[in-house]
Amino acid sequence: TATIVWFRRDLRLADQPALSAAAERGAVIPVYVLDDETAAHRRMGAASRWWLHHSLKALDGSLRAKGSRLILRRGRCDRVLADLAEQSGADEVHALAHYEPWWRNAEKAVARRLDLTLHEGNYLAPPASVTTGSGGLYRIYTPFWRALSERMPPHRPAPAPERIAAPEHWPDGDPLVDWGLLPTKPDWAGGMRAEWTPGEAGAQERLEDFADHAARYEQERNLPSMEGTSRLSPHLHFGEISPAACWHRVAGAGGSAGTFLGELGWRDYAQNVILQFPEYGSRNGRDGYDGLRWRGGPDADADFAAWRQGRTGYPIVDAGMRELWATGWMHNRVRMLAASFLIKHLLIDWRKGEQWFWDTLVDADYGQNAVNWQWSAGTGVDANLFSRIMAPLSQSAKFDAAGYIRRWVPELADLPDSEIHDPPHPVKGYPRPIVEHRAARERALAAYAAAR
Ligand code: FAD
Repeated sequence: TATIVWFRRDLRLADQPALSAAAERGAVIPVYVLDDETAAHRRMGAASRWWLHHSLKALDGSLRAKGSRLILRRGRCDRVLADLAEQSGADEVHALAHYEPWWRNAEKAVARRLDLTLHEGNYLAPPASVTTGSGGLYRIYTPFWRALSERMPPHRPAPAPERIAAPEHWPDGDPLVDWGLLPTKPDWAGGMRAEWTPGEAGAQERLEDFADHAARYEQERNLPSMEGTSRLSPHLHFGEISPAACWHRVAGAGGSAGTFLGELGWRDYAQNVILQFPEYGSRNGRDGYDGLRWRGGPDADADFAAWRQGRTGYPIVDAGMRELWATGWMHNRVRMLAASFLIKHLLIDWRKGEQWFWDTLVDADYGQNAVNWQWSAGTGVDANLFSRIMAPLSQSAKFDAAGYIRRWVPELADLPDSEIHDPPHPVKGYPRPIVEHRAARERALAAYAAAR
């Protein structure tokens, strides 16, 4: 008999314990199920679908190099897997555990019909296992990280199975192109193709590139004009590389590489939060914010459109939003500024920003996106405050974003460093600021006071 390996956000062969366990049992049927029904309104956004297409293609290629292949099927995963088991005679399903609420429900549904074994491996430690002295889960990052650190280093990453035995007959599957994951007209993915190589090999390459300068991570990570961070986030999200592999490659790099390990800790922390608060992507984490009067109506809609298009008149925010649109990724410091600007300066509900990121990021991740948006909003279970309002102009100068702005906002490319963060108007082709910083700040604080 054969074993089904149910791939989801774990699209790799190395350090993939579900695949390794199945390969040891005998013949393996690797399957990916495109299941928009289970994910419902959390179905993957457009940028993620672009990534998924290429990642599945890469995974199929790696499997074929080992004499196997990837079967593609579409529909509700419990039904699809049950059909596949019946058609192929497979007696067990192995998969990695995932913590998005819809995946946890799906795992229960699959386990009702089939013999499902869940393995851990997409996080430094299983989120439910990082507990306080009394056995509860942490709400705040710092004590969470302290507890997680005590259990580090993680396991040594396992290599890909040497052999992946094929079943006697391959069950049929969909051709990938039939899924329509790629944009057609207009083709907006040119910037993504230029920036990324989805798949396990591309992930390995990114990790190697980063390991060379990981020792300077602390000094460079906040400077958007430099490539100071790893850009591993979409690879990690889709599980093309395991966090344990990243940890072991970077931990020995010296200098401030340890700060990077703490960011992997934030990734685990986000899962720990959605495990406790499954609706974190749509509900305020803290009481007292539900009464906040977000702006709505035509003016707010126009401001929201300007933010999405990178036409707010705040160069650092616009550069970030255009980088996002072009490449599906944005530098973390700029994500914080762009999010804060939407929420505080424009007084637009953080959930609208969260959804835009969900659709446009190649690393869109339910836990990480929700935790960071709620952190930016100050509505989360962590300690940040709504009343902390970032000043985009001075932050842009402080983090030396001139080169970054020149790259993404060509209208400003000729301005000197002294003017580019806060341009003297008029500038041909570039809008004036859609809100004035001080007035926007007052408006946000007043809305906050009224809600309390
Ligand atoms: P590095 O600095 O090299 O960090 C290494 C890894 O650590 C990242 O790949 C990521 O997996 C993790 N990490 C880093 N920073 C954070 C963080 N603040 N929270 C959680 N994990 C982190 N990250 C996502 O992966 N998906 C998202 O949907 C997402 N949405 C965000 C929304 C907002 C408003 C903000 C402010 C941040 C968001 N982030 C998200 C976190 C962070 O911006 C990205 O993980 C990071 O920019 C990815 O670049 P990198 O791989 O070069 O990061």
